[in-house]
Amino acid sequence: MKSILVFLLGLLLFSCKQPLNKLKMNTTIVIAHRGASGYLPEHTMEAKAMAFEMNADYIEQDLVLSKDDVPIVIHDIYLDDVTDVAIKFPERKRKDNRFYVIDFAFNELQTLKVTERFNPKTGEQVYPNRFPKGKGNFKLHSLSEEIEFIQGLNTSTGKNIGIYPEIKDPEFHKKEGKNLTEIVLKILDKYGYKTKKDNCILQCFDAYELERIRKELKSELFLVQLIEFPEEVKQLTHFATYANGIGPWYKQILDKKVNGKFTFSTLVTDAHKLGLKVHPYTFRADALDEFSSFEEMMQTLFIDANIDGAFTDFPDLVVNYLNSRN
Ligand code: CA
Repeated sequence: MKSILVFLLGLLLFSCKQPLNKLKMNTTIVIAHRGASGYLPEHTMEAKAMAFEMNADYIEQDLVLSKDDVPIVIHDIYLDDVTDVAIKFPERKRKDNRFYVIDFAFNELQTLKVTERFNPKTGEQVYPNRFPKGKGNFKLHSLSEEIEFIQGLNTSTGKNIGIYPEIKDPEFHKKEGKNLTEIVLKILDKYGYKTKKDNCILQCFDAYELERIRKELKSELFLVQLIEFPEEVKQLTHFATYANGIGPWYKQILDKKVNGKFTFSTLVTDAHKLGLKVHPYTFRADALDEFSSFEEMMQTLFIDANIDGAFTDFPDLVVNYLNSRN
């Protein structure tokens, strides 16, 4: 009799707990980091199509300006670690031996072949088990082209997948006499991304610039302050005056591993108290570091640390994991 009671009580507790879990998990988002970049060269349209099919909630766009002021979707201000620029335009490098996106017009950038990321000094590909370097026929594209691609797929599939653009190195752009932020905001506005209700999250590492986007440029978009250095973690209260979330390095959330279980810094709880969402980078199934499996990484950060979303090169694995918890 007693065991039946315990069983019924357990069943009751279990059924009460479910909707809460579901609610929380439903708000957890998967951001395809540079597209499905674990499978196809980063930031190519092909990698974005794959991420879309994998049902990532958001697809990321890193943005750098061309010489003729077109925001290009590319991770760095340089071209030589993801394209064949050094072969096609050998005379166009700067004194530091690097090739800069900003030195090329959009029509020139479109002639380059994009490849899996490699070290330009050694020629070696960064993630050896990913898509083979030099294979395929991939190209660079603009922010507008990618928005039209994602919005087009949203129309044809009936899905509602968002964009997650990043303003890259505003200081560098300023020194080159350009204003990347204002050009990007204008394009986002043109395509209907104006407020927090629109399916767009704007991110930047430069805190001065992100604050300016909210307070001076009066953007009403959902803003995420990316965090690189440990001392920035102490500025959460200030970030909360203009941002809606933070994007820390995942290691800033971890503290120690004791008896096989991780303990955590106060970053996530502190951010949540200030109403900030937490979207750490980067979940890579082929670069696990302190974790013994990708499953352990996801359990530790999504469930134990209670993050609100994550940037990942492997959106299918994270989507499946979160769905299996629903
Ligand atoms: Ca990024």
